[in-house]
Amino acid sequence: MSDGTPVPDCLFCKIIAREIPAEVVRETETTLAFRDIHPQAPTHVLVVPKAHHPNAAALALAAPDQAAAVLAEAGEVAAQEKIAESGYRLIFNTGAGAGQTVFHAHVHVLGGHGSLHGTLV
Ligand code: 5GP
Ligand code: ZN
Repeated sequence: MSDGTPVPDCLFCKIIAREIPAEVVRETETTLAFRDIHPQAPTHVLVVPKAHHPNAAALALAAPDQAAAVLAEAGEVAAQEKIAESGYRLIFNTGAGAGQTVFHAHVHVLGGHGSLHGTLV
């Protein structure tokens, strides 16, 4: 089971440590939300636990309270970005074969301007 310890060469651990800049939109004691550098929708924010876990399921197993905090923050981001009413999508890519490129748990919050109509991914 992952223990949440920061990983020196992890991109999101570096963003959390403010060693790499990011456009932070929300922060709590246990989570950070920042804009994706390559947005795939008008609103595209990543919400991460500050503790390092390799993916969402590992996070839920090791620290269920922090998994819940990430989901709650995704909802807060949607409200703040004004996409809660129009609808938004939460995506957890898990494994390289599914497109995961950063192995620090994160949820993509995607929405805005009808950008999700007729699409599954
Ligand atoms: P994944 O593909 O692992 O689900 O998502 C990783 C996301 O991190 C990608 O959407 C990618 O655009 C984003 N990303 C990669 N490098 C950076 C960076 O340096 N800053 C920010 N804000 N996002 C990044
Ligand atoms: Zn990390």
